[in-house]
Amino acid sequence: MSKVEDFLTHSEESEVIDAIRQAERNTSGEIRVHLEAHAEIDPFDRAVELFNFLHMNNTRNGNGVLFYVAVEDHILVILGDRGIDKVVPEDFWESTKDLVLEHFSYGDVKQGLVDGILHAGEQLKRHFPYRLDDTDELPNEISV
Ligand code: CA
Ligand code: CA
Repeated sequence: MSKVEDFLTHSEESEVIDAIRQAERNTSGEIRVHLEAHAEIDPFDRAVELFNFLHMNNTRNGNGVLFYVAVEDHILVILGDRGIDKVVPEDFWESTKDLVLEHFSYGDVKQGLVDGILHAGEQLKRHFPYRLDDTDELPNEISV
């Protein structure tokens, strides 16, 4: 079993979690991060598997977003739920993805995630603005 500490220090982990909190202040969307060393199957299929496993397919507005990272493979999949896919342009995640991968290319997983999450929050704001009756439907934590 791997642990978050295999990939991020405690302070890096806190920074990523703070970014999730901050992003979710802009949007009703729910962001989660899952890290593992390698993708054993096709990374997109793996992200879908985790999305369901983490109960992200069950948000009220179908607006969960998973950042799945195969850390040692430098692979990132950003997967949005059906509610997002329905309303956003096809290239919606591309700019976020580019931003993250640039940091990954320097080996900076933490900064990639922080910038990517904040950027995703900004993007989501347009389609899923934060509402006063919003609840935190999914825990703001990193799973491994
Ligand atoms: Ca929410
Ligand atoms: Ca949340």
